[in-house]
Amino acid sequence: MAVSPRLAPVPGVLQPTLYLRLVTAAGAAVLVVVLITSGSDIGPLDVEFWMLAALVLLGELFPIQVHGQVGVDTFSTPFAFAILLLYGVPEVVVVQVGATLVAEVILRRPFDRIAFNVAQLVLSWAAAGAVFEALGGTGLGSAEGLQASDLPAIAVCALVFFLVNSTIVRTAEALLQKTRIVDHLLGDLLFRSWSNATLFALGPPVAVIADNWLYLVPVLVLPIAAVHLAAKQASEMEHLALHDRLTGLPNRTLLLQRTEQALEQGEHEIALLIFGLDRFQDINETLGRVQGDGVLVEIASRLRRSVRTTDTVARVEGDRFGVLLSSLPRAADAAATAEKIVEQLSRQIDVAGATLSVDATVGVACGPQHGRIAEQLLQRAEAAMYRAKRAQSRLEFFSPELEEEAPRRLVLVTALKRAIDDRSIGLHYQPKIELARRRVVGVEALARWTDPVLGQVGPSTFVPLAERTGLAEPLTSLALEIAAADCRRWQEQGCAVPVAVNVSARVLVDPRLPELVEDQRRAFGLSDDAIEIEITESTLMGDHVKAREALSRLRAIGIRTSIDDFGTGYSSLSYLRELPVHALKIDRSFITGLLDEPDSEAIVRSIIELARNLGLETVAEGAEDERVCERLMSLGCDYVQGFAIARPMSGDAMLRWLRAYAPST
Ligand code: C2E
Ligand code: CA
Ligand code: CA
Repeated sequence: MAVSPRLAPVPGVLQPTLYLRLVTAAGAAVLVVVLITSGSDIGPLDVEFWMLAALVLLGELFPIQVHGQVGVDTFSTPFAFAILLLYGVPEVVVVQVGATLVAEVILRRPFDRIAFNVAQLVLSWAAAGAVFEALGGTGLGSAEGLQASDLPAIAVCALVFFLVNSTIVRTAEALLQKTRIVDHLLGDLLFRSWSNATLFALGPPVAVIADNWLYLVPVLVLPIAAVHLAAKQASEMEHLALHDRLTGLPNRTLLLQRTEQALEQGEHEIALLIFGLDRFQDINETLGRVQGDGVLVEIASRLRRSVRTTDTVARVEGDRFGVLLSSLPRAADAAATAEKIVEQLSRQIDVAGATLSVDATVGVACGPQHGRIAEQLLQRAEAAMYRAKRAQSRLEFFSPELEEEAPRRLVLVTALKRAIDDRSIGLHYQPKIELARRRVVGVEALARWTDPVLGQVGPSTFVPLAERTGLAEPLTSLALEIAAADCRRWQEQGCAVPVAVNVSARVLVDPRLPELVEDQRRAFGLSDDAIEIEITESTLMGDHVKAREALSRLRAIGIRTSIDDFGTGYSSLSYLRELPVHALKIDRSFITGLLDEPDSEAIVRSIIELARNLGLETVAEGAEDERVCERLMSLGCDYVQGFAIARPMSGDAMLRWLRAYAPST
């Protein structure tokens, strides 16, 4: 915006130091030259001079910092210009140096910035003054006073000041913000030249008035301040259009603009991070809007503190924030930064007497890899964020299949949700027998779903889908309820067998799981050992501590647990030893090939050995024929499950099978 920008402090950026030093050195050199060549010319100084000098100082003391801009502007220009016109180059340089020094020391600017600002003003005034004199401008200090013929020189002088001053300062801004210099030079050029022209146009009248009616000069502060304020308001309007009122952060539009710029530069990898606050609506509803706003403001300031000044933090909408990381050395750095920020955000927040914590989910899209258009990149980061929310994970990167699979997945998810809601998901059961005595020791419940439109959908498709879309918990609840009901029914028909229900890791670590099981046991009057739980080995690898605690909670209420698909998840021995489980279910892939593949036999043998050492039982799953069962028995395996015994079947069929089953010894 207005005339004569100065640099405001920007912490933490070192690269442009050289440029700042060069300008400072050049300014110092010119200052010395100006003082030496004209030292004796200065003075005698009259009241007018001191009055104008005081007003220059006043202007310097009230700079305008436009939100988010590196530079600040001052309204000292017309008074300084009047000094140039009345007295000459050395006088204006000395006054400007003195006023800037005093004002910026009072305003506590860092030393290097003061030096830079003083230097660039020396350069600008010296250049403007030199041009003025070269064009034969005599000014008001001369005997003739202001002449019409001086006007072109005055105009060119103002233009030179504007060009030199804004080039030096805008270049520094561009270097500090790592943006293109030309963008900074051309950015709102029209507006800046207009407000610059207005302030410079006031210079000659100020000089005339100072020369003739000295005590009217302070009155001039009013119109000049008005111009200054108008410029400030205009810039504030612009600021409002591009910023969020509540947090003061850039809004979606500005984030897109900056992203576009970063993509255009194309020198570095960039990453766009979209943060969604989890359950923010609850905060608004339970604590009220005011507290909700307090949380958003705190989140905004945490975000701002977590990134570099060259990155952009924006409030995209409601409870969604965006962070643009420009110039990333590697895409992987985006993940590290995102996680660091999520951690910062999840720290407790105190608002109006309440302490609460807010979790955030983040989606990341990288440019140019995931998109070369800002809007697209933003949408993709948002899509990744929503996937992370559905999967209840903290962070997801955009991946192309997110878009390809979206339509089919959407249909599936909607159908699955409905199937769970109206309980059209059913269970089949598969018996598990003890190898030595051939008696039935339990059955495993396996979910089955036939959709009226989509047809049969296998559990290998819908179970992972349920996990990614927050449906794992309702699916497990439903399975537990059906299993408990069937178990009760069989028991009443004289066939009491425990039922094992499969549970995914996310549900396992949910502290409400034991309660869920207990509720069903109680509802159907089942004993403690009637319901068992199976958890896949690979899912146990996530959070060791949480998994161990969850298994202990289950053990505490008498639930038997087994590790499913064992052998595929690379659990370490020391980890296994700590896990309070009862059995290992050897993965089907080793059992199917047991007779033909020596490797499989070696693995099965060592798993059985390991289990024995740890005091755990072993179950072989996927035994498809009798010879496999015999081999398993000779290897010392305890239980077996598979087509060799029975295929999974409906609850009714299971009851008939249990009644008919007679151990063949
Ligand atoms: P799983 O727990 O390992 O279940 C055993 C799978 O092997 C079942 O496939 C079963 O039908 C199949 N199977 C049993 N015996 C044999 C055999 O002799 N040969 C062969 N080739 N296969 C055999 P299904 O029912 O398709 O289930 C696939 C997986 O889906 C399950 O693997 C389990 O991880 C998951 N799943 C099934 N129901 C549920 C559920 O209610 N909740 C959760 N969280 N996961 C479930
Ligand atoms: Ca299982
Ligand atoms: Ca399995």
